[in-house]
Amino acid sequence: MDTPEPVIEVRRSARRRRTVQARREGERTIVMIPQAMSEEEAERTVRELVAKLDARVARRRGPQGDVELERRAVELADRYLDGSVRPFSVRWVSNQNKRWGSCSTADRRIRLSDRLRQMPGYVVDYVLLHELAHLLHADHGPAFRELVNRYEKKERAEGYLEAVEQLQR
Ligand SMILES: [Zn+2]
Repeated sequence: MDTPEPVIEVRRSARRRRTVQARREGERTIVMIPQAMSEEEAERTVRELVAKLDARVARRRGPQGDVELERRAVELADRYLDGSVRPFSVRWVSNQNKRWGSCSTADRRIRLSDRLRQMPGYVVDYVLLHELAHLLHADHGPAFRELVNRYEKKERAEGYLEAVEQLQR
């Protein structure tokens, strides 16, 4: 697989005296440092900031592998659905571009679009819980909604997914 080299852009600012800052813009990492900083110090600062940023992104992320994903589904079923349901399998899939998740109630298999992998963990949890709730209720009726409404970050997760869908249109 071809993964793009991470691009790090260092911007020096005369207005900055001591503060340093880093942020991500898509694939790029922008690091802002004071104009007067030495080359050596700049190099070390950039390395530290990028490492911190990577750690923060990794913490925010949800499960990355199938095993992790399945484990997460069981945790959510225990926490929000009183452990009343167990999926037969939960898998990341790459051929599901129209829907975030799907579930077949007959064999209790749940599939999640791998586009969710890069999204925050609370968004993945929300989609997982939605599909798990379908194992109990096939439709989106009141009984189904009562279950997914138990998720504290439901509104936030829905807002996140709506924003992503808007961008892709
Ligand atoms: Zn649904």
